[in-house]
Amino acid sequence: MKGIVVRTIGSFEKTEVSVVAPGACEVTVRVEVTGLCRTDLKIIEKGHRDLVLPRIPGEEVIGVVSETGRDVTEYSEGDRVYLYPGTWCGVCPSCLLGAENLCREMQIMGFHRDGGFAEYVTVPVRCLIRVPEGLSPDTAVFAEPLSCCLNALDLAGVRPGMRVGIWGAGPAGTLIDRACRAAGVDTRVCDPDARRRERI
Ligand SMILES: [Zn+2]
Repeated sequence: MKGIVVRTIGSFEKTEVSVVAPGACEVTVRVEVTGLCRTDLKIIEKGHRDLVLPRIPGEEVIGVVSETGRDVTEYSEGDRVYLYPGTWCGVCPSCLLGAENLCREMQIMGFHRDGGFAEYVTVPVRCLIRVPEGLSPDTAVFAEPLSCCLNALDLAGVRPGMRVGIWGAGPAGTLIDRACRAAGVDTRVCDPDARRRERI
């Protein structure tokens, strides 16, 4: 298959790579859409403490299950799924407190293991989240950034009837703006870039 591979910081190449056969509790997914976020560009340009080279980046992935491991029963070929990028140990103090993001054993797709800038990606089955019927891959791929935005609104205590100022009309600002308006929250968005303002 074709894949984007980072071998040294500062460059990448499109090259032929092998499809990894799924282990007993893994699935192989045919990639439909992979989101390109600022983090991908940053790790290619400057590296990252969690990045292990060589690596296929891409941590926002929607695809269709193409092969399942021996012990996988919950998913089958043809299921459309979102791939949660992280796997954590589940037994350390952080995990037991529900703060999996602080797990020292965290393994992140696109950093520790290969990600979605390839035709296929193989992941643990526990990373799979089923995409609801009728939701297009182009929309479903926003699951992770949108959930971060919804979490931010929740933590800020934003409720219908409020007015919210949003500084920056980039991807996150735009998603926050749409989430606010969908919830009946009035917004004002500031951005020095006229092209971004026009898209609000
Ligand atoms: Zn842990």
